[in-house]
Amino acid sequence: MKITRVRFVLCGYELPTPIPLSCGELTHRNFGLVLVETDAGVTGIGETSVNFPPWCVHERRATIEDGLQSLLLGENPLDIARLNKRMVDATRPFTRMWAEGAIAQAISGIDIALWDIAGKEYGVPVWQLLGGKYRDEILCYAVGFNAADPGKGALDMRGRGYTHGKMRIGFDDAADIAKARGMREAVGNDFAMMIDANQAFDLPRARRMMTALSDLDLYWLEEPLLNDDFDGYAALRTEFPQIPLAWGENAFSLGNYNTMLDNHLVDVAMPDPCRSGGLTTAVRMAETAANHGIAISPHHYGSDVGFVAALHLAASQPNFSIMLRDEAPVPLRGDILSEPLAVRNGTISVPAKPGLGIDLDHDIVETSTIRL
Ligand SMILES: [Mg+2]
Repeated sequence: MKITRVRFVLCGYELPTPIPLSCGELTHRNFGLVLVETDAGVTGIGETSVNFPPWCVHERRATIEDGLQSLLLGENPLDIARLNKRMVDATRPFTRMWAEGAIAQAISGIDIALWDIAGKEYGVPVWQLLGGKYRDEILCYAVGFNAADPGKGALDMRGRGYTHGKMRIGFDDAADIAKARGMREAVGNDFAMMIDANQAFDLPRARRMMTALSDLDLYWLEEPLLNDDFDGYAALRTEFPQIPLAWGENAFSLGNYNTMLDNHLVDVAMPDPCRSGGLTTAVRMAETAANHGIAISPHHYGSDVGFVAALHLAASQPNFSIMLRDEAPVPLRGDILSEPLAVRNGTISVPAKPGLGIDLDHDIVETSTIRL
C-alpha cells in the first residue's frame, strides 16, 4: 500500500455568538480535517487543531499539502512511527524559526489518519493497535456551557448526567471569581468543578486568583500560566497544594512533558492527539505521565473526528482519568460524521469498528467546506 495524496479540508462556519477565551474570541468554529489517500482505496481520516490564531487555517493547508505531503507520497502508510519521525526530523529546524505548535498540529492530523488507515487495513480499532483497552466506557466532563452564567450551565449539564464540568476564566478577575462562586453555589458539593485559565496569568495574578478560589474545592485549575513557565508552576505547586493543576494541551514536545512531569509540577497531564504530534506522540506523553504516577485527561477542542481519536487514547492508557466533552451548541462538530456520537449520562462507549471507527458525512463536509 502506498500513499497517493494528502489533503487538508477545512470545514466551519461563523458563530452567531462568539465564544470568549482569554487568549482571544472564537468568531468561527473551524475544523481541520486531514485525509490521507492510498492506492489501495483506503482513506485515513484525521484532524489538525485550527482554533487559533484565526489565520492559521491558511498556514495549515500549506504546511500539510505544500510541505509535509511530499515526505509521504509513495510511502507505506502502515509505517506510522517511521513516517511520524520523518515529518518531525524534516521540520525540526522550523520549530525554532517558525512555530513549534503549528508544525506539531499539522503532523497530528496526518498521524491520526495513518492510524485510521492501519486499523482499517488490519480490521481492528485503533485502541487495539495501541495495545488494547483498559475500559469500555469513557467518563467525560462538560465544557463550553453558558459562559455568562456557568452556574446555570453546570446545572443543565448535571441534569444531562454529567458529574464534572469546567468553566473558563482569564477575563475580568472580579467577575470570574463571582462566576466561579456562583457555579459552586448552584451545583453544591456533589459536582466536580474544573476551571481553565488558558494561560492567562503571570505568577502574581495567578497567586491572587488561586487565593480567591482556594475554598471552592476545585477538581483542578488548568493552565494558570504560560505552558513553559516551569518555575512559575513549581511555585504554584508548592504554595497551593490544595488546588490540583492540569496542564499539557499547549506542550508540543516530549521535552516539555519530561521537564514538567519529571519534577511533578502538575497533577493532570492533557495530551491532545490533534495538537501534540498525533496519537503517536500523545501515547508517548501519556506513558511519560504514567511513569510518574500522573493521570491523563486527553484534551480535545475540535470536531468529533479528533474527539474519537482522543477516545482511542483514553481507552488504551492505564492512567486515564476523565475526558473533555465540548457541549457548546456547535452542531457541525458532530454532523460531519455519518453516525453521530452519543454521550449519555456523561459517558461514551469506546469505538468498536476498525480504524477510528467513524466515517464522514460527505454531503455535510462538502457543504461546510471553506475554500482556501
Ligand atoms: Mg484548556
